[in-house]
Amino acid sequence: MKQLSLIVLCFVALHVHAQLNLRFEEGVSPDHATCIAAYEALVKKYQKTQLKEMGPSDSGRPIHLFIAGDMAEHKPTILINNGIHAGESCGVDASLLLIEELLRADSPILDRVNIAIIPMYNIGGALNRSCCTRANQKGPLEQGFRGNAKNLDLNRDFMKADSRNALTFHKIFAFLEPEFLVDTHTSNGADYQYTMTLIHSQLDMIAPHLANTYRYSLIPDLYTAMESSYPMVPYVDLVGKTPEEGIIDFPDFPRYSTGYASLYNCFGFTSEAHMLKPYRDRVMATYHFLKALAQWTSDHDREVVMNKQKADRELRKQGTFYMNHELDSAQVDSVFFKGFRAEFFTSDVTGLERLRYDQSTPWEGYIPHFKNYKNVDPVIAPKAYYISQAWREVIERLEANGVKMTPLKNDTIMKLRVYRIASLNTSKQAFEGHYLHDGVTTTEALEEVRFYKGDFMILLDQRTKNYLIEALEPRAVDSFFAWGFFDIVLQQKEWFSPYVFEDMALDMLKADSKLNKEFREKQKSDKDFAASEWAQLIYLYQRSPYYEKEHMRYPVFRSLD
Ligand SMILES: [Zn+2]
Repeated sequence: MKQLSLIVLCFVALHVHAQLNLRFEEGVSPDHATCIAAYEALVKKYQKTQLKEMGPSDSGRPIHLFIAGDMAEHKPTILINNGIHAGESCGVDASLLLIEELLRADSPILDRVNIAIIPMYNIGGALNRSCCTRANQKGPLEQGFRGNAKNLDLNRDFMKADSRNALTFHKIFAFLEPEFLVDTHTSNGADYQYTMTLIHSQLDMIAPHLANTYRYSLIPDLYTAMESSYPMVPYVDLVGKTPEEGIIDFPDFPRYSTGYASLYNCFGFTSEAHMLKPYRDRVMATYHFLKALAQWTSDHDREVVMNKQKADRELRKQGTFYMNHELDSAQVDSVFFKGFRAEFFTSDVTGLERLRYDQSTPWEGYIPHFKNYKNVDPVIAPKAYYISQAWREVIERLEANGVKMTPLKNDTIMKLRVYRIASLNTSKQAFEGHYLHDGVTTTEALEEVRFYKGDFMILLDQRTKNYLIEALEPRAVDSFFAWGFFDIVLQQKEWFSPYVFEDMALDMLKADSKLNKEFREKQKSDKDFAASEWAQLIYLYQRSPYYEKEHMRYPVFRSLD
């Protein structure tokens, strides 16, 4: 009897694989055309399914969205994003496998949950297939490439949105308003016994209401559900050289998919199947994770919808936000871990110490787990931001996110809170096409600002409030300022000729005794200053009415009332 049911199961599995052209058992992942054709076949066969072209990718080909379910508002929505790193394709196969199974069985899960799938997100990377894009990964036979058609890492692009893929993703996200997002990946890094590791939205960086609910139910339930198939462990981001020294929970800033999801009270997951496990196992582990999440969501459907609604309501009332987060290394938890013995010996290649994991010597035990983050740098949410229509690149991104903006009807001058950039650090190396700023400090003052008809007022009382704050507060880690969109304000436009300005400078000192005193004291106390004609004249120029107010003035303005 047991044998017979096994034969039936195998037959069903083979039938499904043949119908969808899935060949992961042989270590082959579908190319883009095969993958889309498989979804088209599902739409032909099953009612209440649809496949939409949602917008362009940088490759020129459209990004598809498959939806199973009627998208009724009272039902929670899971969005599964596959192939963001195109060489990490486990989720491409796993999603097809799962959704076909749910549709074929007419599963009650689909009555309670909308499941939306981006079949392949990084299409340019998927088209760029070869044997050899992932040096340390076991299969599939052909793998896509991490960079997209513009060579961008799309899992760093959710805020700056340099790719058309990201702009299309924002439209998909605003359309679905999902409760859960799963971004499917394959891991790099250490070797250990687990096939599946998991990143989820950082609990200290999301709405407290969601964190409290999911910390004690969703997350432990998913780990328990995986015990019978592919036991799971938190993503292995090492403190030191090997897992024994401990692991750190991933700080998912908004540039990443899960951090971006958090801004909209959507709980994000990054499934990371292990690169050294056979491709079949990676697909099956991803499939089991997706299935466990779908089942949990179905079992808690009303609670999930209500949780997000409550968090959305609380967001509109929230006054203080935090621009940055730091790991709290004083707080250490522990996690049970199944590893392989790490050995260090002299390398035949470099002559230096090298590491090897001995898969024939497994071990188990508790390891340190750092998972708490501290909020730093609070900011009070304004009632509204004001921005000139001149900043087209910024406005285009806000629009893709569904931000509601009100054009000003007339030219006007308003008294608003104005930030000036006091200091910043800029990276010396380009990162994802930008020279990122960090350590930004600002001063704030009430000033008159001129606007023209068609400039924008952006009220914060909307579902994009958290996104707007992370995007438009210049000190935020992934703000448009940090990514260099407003760099032009760092440069002065008008200057002076010293031989002409010299006379004005003298008049200024004569007319202003306080300025004169400060200037003379600086000459005495600062040797370099005293030795530089330019430094002295610029000191006075910056205190004259000729100095342009736009220099170092951050061009998004805040109204608190
Ligand atoms: Zn990845």
